[in-house]
Amino acid sequence: MKIGVLALQGAFREHCWMLEGCGATAVEIRKPEELDDVVGLVIPGGESTTIGKLMVQWGLMEKIQDRVREGMAIYGTCAGMIMLAKEIIGSDQPRLGLMDIAVKRNGFGRQRESFEASMSVPEFGEEPVQAVFIRAPYIEIAGENVKILAMVNEKIVIAQQDKMLVTAFHPELTNDNRIHNYFISMIKE
Ligand code: GLN
Repeated sequence: MKIGVLALQGAFREHCWMLEGCGATAVEIRKPEELDDVVGLVIPGGESTTIGKLMVQWGLMEKIQDRVREGMAIYGTCAGMIMLAKEIIGSDQPRLGLMDIAVKRNGFGRQRESFEASMSVPEFGEEPVQAVFIRAPYIEIAGENVKILAMVNEKIVIAQQDKMLVTAFHPELTNDNRIHNYFISMIKE
């Protein structure tokens, strides 16, 4: 199973290692045509304004939107989650705008630039997920068709809509591969 990882900026290498560890083949994506034969795409964390700018520059915006409409699965972490949102509160920065969510950038406040939290995710079994948040966004509003998978401090931090998955944190920086495995199972469905 070939899964692309958008490699314009941010923590893409870690996602590749994680996906390979789950038995998938990870390919770094920089050009639109590289998306033709992948069944899923991961958009890593980083800086969403930079990732957005580069996506427009490299002609990736429309191509990704088209591939998702054709059935390609997509998973955004942190800045990647911001890229997938229809609404970015207080910002008109470029985005894919595919998922029915409104996100708040840097939503956990300055005092909490980065922190770890343990959360229960019923979908992943009993063991809580230990998550690393780095200047993380959260989901302020989720549409009816969005499934909420986990919350931290009463904020939505994992959500899914059809074949689109988002997490506000960075699972690729831990040893817990359940989220990547979940994404792979979404593709198989
Ligand atoms: N704060 C960043 C942004 O707004 C996201 C941070 C991250 O991806 N770790 O794009």
